[in-house]
Amino acid sequence: MSTPTPANTAVPETVKPSNFLRQIIEHDLEKGTYASRRWAGSPGDAAHHAAGQPDPAKIRTRFPPEPNGYLHIGHAKSICINFGLARDYGGVCHLRFDDTNPEKEDTEYVNSIKDAVQWLGFGWINGGESNLYQASDYFDFMYRAAEYLIEAGHAYVDEQTAEQMRINRGDFGKPGVDSPFRTRTPAENLARFREMRNGLHEDGSMVLRARIDMASPNINMRDPAIYRIRRATHHNTGDTWCIYPMYTYAHPIEDALEQITHSLCTLEFEDQRPFYDWLLERLIEGGLLASPPPRQYEFARLNLTYVITSKRKLAQLVYDHKVSGWDDPRMPTIVGLRRRGYTPASIQTFVERIGVTKSDSWIDYSTLEGCLREDLELKAHRGMAVLNPVKLVLTNWDAVMGAGHLEPCSLPALPHHNHEATQGAAEGVEIPVRHFTIGKELWIEREDFEEMPPKGYKRLFPGNKVRLKGGYVIECTGCTKDAGGNITEVLATVVPGTKSGTPGADSVKVKAAITWVAVADGVSAEVRMYDRLFLDAHPDAGGKDFIESLNPNSLKVVTAIVEPSLANAKPDDKFQFERHGYFVADRVDHAAGKPVFNLAVGLKDSWGK
Ligand code: ATP
Ligand code: MG
Repeated sequence: MSTPTPANTAVPETVKPSNFLRQIIEHDLEKGTYASRRWAGSPGDAAHHAAGQPDPAKIRTRFPPEPNGYLHIGHAKSICINFGLARDYGGVCHLRFDDTNPEKEDTEYVNSIKDAVQWLGFGWINGGESNLYQASDYFDFMYRAAEYLIEAGHAYVDEQTAEQMRINRGDFGKPGVDSPFRTRTPAENLARFREMRNGLHEDGSMVLRARIDMASPNINMRDPAIYRIRRATHHNTGDTWCIYPMYTYAHPIEDALEQITHSLCTLEFEDQRPFYDWLLERLIEGGLLASPPPRQYEFARLNLTYVITSKRKLAQLVYDHKVSGWDDPRMPTIVGLRRRGYTPASIQTFVERIGVTKSDSWIDYSTLEGCLREDLELKAHRGMAVLNPVKLVLTNWDAVMGAGHLEPCSLPALPHHNHEATQGAAEGVEIPVRHFTIGKELWIEREDFEEMPPKGYKRLFPGNKVRLKGGYVIECTGCTKDAGGNITEVLATVVPGTKSGTPGADSVKVKAAITWVAVADGVSAEVRMYDRLFLDAHPDAGGKDFIESLNPNSLKVVTAIVEPSLANAKPDDKFQFERHGYFVADRVDHAAGKPVFNLAVGLKDSWGK
C-alpha cells in the first residue's frame, strides 16, 4: 500500500512530467506555427475558414474512433492524451466518429463512445460550440478533392485486378511497376471516376489511385488506392454513394477540414505520414484546404499484460459468450472497467504514469491495479464482509451480557480521516461512522480458526485470545463438528469489559484482530470474485489463439455475509472490505435487499498469519 507523499515533497498536481508531444506543442506555440489559423465555427474547406475568425483554440486535437465496437483501455490512453493536451494548452479536442467505412457502424457503439469520453471526465462542448463530428459528413468534399486530384494529374483510375495490383506494387527489395492505366489523360480519368460514382461498374472492378511514385522506398507511396467501389448502405448517407474513400485518404482530409493542428496516432501509422503530408500539400496547392496543414505524430500504443486491446478480438469474446457482454467486469473495455469498480481518476492517473513514448512496450497489469488502489484507499468506506463464513458461538454471552442481548458497536468508515476528526468536527465536516451490533452468534472466516494451529498462527485456536474488530476480546474454547468431521461451529467465550473504544479495551493484550459480522444484522450478499481473464501475460502476441489461454477460474461467485452499512450500498458505491480488498456494488445487478458486489482489486498487503 502506498504511503501518502509528505506535504513538503509533494509535486503540485498541475506540474505534469513532460513528454515529446508536450515538447512539440510548446515549441509550436512558442514559434506561432498555427497562430495564423482561422476557424469558421465548423469544419470546412479553405474558403470556409478564411471567412472565419482567428482560431480561439491555441491547438486542436481529435479523438477519432471508428464506431465499430466498445472502447477499451488503449483508447482511454488516446482519449486522455488528446483531450488532456488540448485542456493543458488552451486548445480544443474534437470527438470525431471515423465512420467512412460503411459496413460496421452501429448507433449502440456511437452512444457507448460518447458515454466513455464523458465518464472519463472529458467533453466536446467548448465555449458553447459542439466539436462532435462525423467523418461521413465530409464525403462531398472528399469526392470534390478526388476530382481535383484527377484534374491536376495526381490521380488515376486503375482497372488492373487486385492481384495484378498487388504483384505490380513490388516489395521492400523490388520497386513497383507502373500500371498500364497510369498514363490516361485527366479527362479520361475524370469520366471513368464519374462512372464509378454513378454505379456503372462492378464492386472491385477498378479503384482511384494517387499518382505518386511506383519506385518509392515507402510502399505506401506507390500509388495508394484512395477510392473504391462498394455497394453498401451507410448509416449516415444511406445509398447516396457506391464509392467510398480509403482510410488513408479520408483521415488527413478529416483532420484538415477540422483545422486540427496536432494529429496524434499510434506508431503503426508512421509509414502513412509521407502520404498524409503529400495529400494535404496537393490540396493546399489547389486552394481546397487551409494552410498550415495539420501534422501527424505517432506514439506507442498501450499494451497491457494479460489483456487484449483489439475491438475485433474483444467482440469475439462477447459473441462467443466467453464473457457476459462488453461490460463484463473482466473486460478491458471502459464499460467493463467501470463495472469492475475502476474510477475515472484511477484511469487518468494510469495514463499519466505510463507516459507517452515512441517505443512499444508492455505495461504490467499491476500498474493499473495500483492506480485504482491508490484512488480508493482514501475514498472507499470500510466495511466487514465474511466471504467464507463459519458460525462462531460465544457460549457465555447470555450469562454475562444477558440472554439475547445485542450490543451496538461502531467503527469509522474512513479510518484515514480520523486524524482530522477534531478539525473536521469543528468545521462541521461529518466523519462517517458505520454502526452494527454484536451478539451471541457471529459469522467469521473459516480460515480464522485452526484446531491444530500451524507454527506462528495467531488467530483462533483453543486457548488463544483475539479481538473481534470493533467488538470484544474473545477466548477460543474449541469447535463442534458434523459426522463427517467438518467444523460446524467455532466456540469461544467473550471477555467482558474489553469492548473496543472503552477504557477496558486494552486490559487484555492479544496478537490478532479478526473480522466478523453478527448473525443478527449480517446480510447475505452475492460476491463475484474476479481474476484475470487470461493466464498468458501476452494472450494474442505473435498471432497466438487467445481463446486457448482463457482462465477457467476468472470468476468465482460466493455467498458472503456483509455488515449492514454494506447492504445499504447504492449501485457503483465502492468499499474496502477489510482485509479482502476493494469491492463495488454491481451497477447492473445490485439492488436493495439483494446486494451484489464485484471484486475490483485486492489489497496489496496480504492478511497476516
Ligand atoms: P482496435 O484495433 O481496437 O479496433 P483501432 O485503432 O482500430 O483499435 P479506432 O477506433 O480506430 O480503433 O481508434 C481510435 C483511436 O484510438 C486511434 O487514434 C487509435 O490510434 C487509438 N488507439 C486504439 N488502440 C490503442 C491503444 N492500444 N493504445 C493507444 N491508442 C490506441
Ligand atoms: Mg481502426
